[in-house]
Amino acid sequence: MAKKQFKAESKRLLEMMINSIYTQKEIFLRELISNASDAIDKMYYKALTDESIVFDKDQYYIKVETDKQNRKLTITDTGIGMTKEELEINLGTIAKSGSLAFKSENELKDGHDIIGQFGVGFYSAFMVADEVTVTSKALGSHDAYKWQSDGTDGYTIEEAEKDTFGTTIELTIKENTEDENYDEYVDSHRLRAIIKKYSDFIRYPIKMNVTER
Ligand code: ADP
Ligand code: MG
Repeated sequence: MAKKQFKAESKRLLEMMINSIYTQKEIFLRELISNASDAIDKMYYKALTDESIVFDKDQYYIKVETDKQNRKLTITDTGIGMTKEELEINLGTIAKSGSLAFKSENELKDGHDIIGQFGVGFYSAFMVADEVTVTSKALGSHDAYKWQSDGTDGYTIEEAEKDTFGTTIELTIKENTEDENYDEYVDSHRLRAIIKKYSDFIRYPIKMNVTER
């Protein structure tokens, strides 16, 4: 008898992902920082085999910026970036991990640092944000692209401007509700504490650049 594949109601699945897999909202930052670290690690592994890539450690970092007044939180990395296709595949498919694929394609065994594997962490951003914009320029590419979603009704991808390789993720932090306060996610002191708690082991520098207005 022919076996049938399960189908998934992606909108419901995403909703479940965002609202039920994590008990604490603050871990979204750990997820985004681990993705940024993975992206830089991929640069590092590429540089091992490609002489045209120079891995100068000083050039690789993760930057966290807040803008209280406009309720924006931005996480930037100088990592490998994503092409238009990669934005589509990795951020448009629930449970698709580009990092897991990278590990097997490059035959990375134990001893590497790449964290990603399940392909769901990114969506945790929608626990605290009502809009997420990912602007990315892939290593070796001339074009940059912008992926945008409100976490409920799909996403858009369009051309964008970006000078350097890597990725910038901009979160528009939710307005407070009667039972939930989101202000802490644009508060630099609070963010610093969250980074210390969950991302202390990240081996690239995490810089904070704050616009307190
Ligand atoms: P995981 O990290 O477990 O693979 P995520 O949902 O966190 O799953 O991310 C999905 C995929 O999107 C990653 O595997 C990676 O391919 C891609 N990605 C996410 N963030 C970035 C980033 N900052 N730079 C490059 N690729 C990224
Ligand atoms: Mg991840």
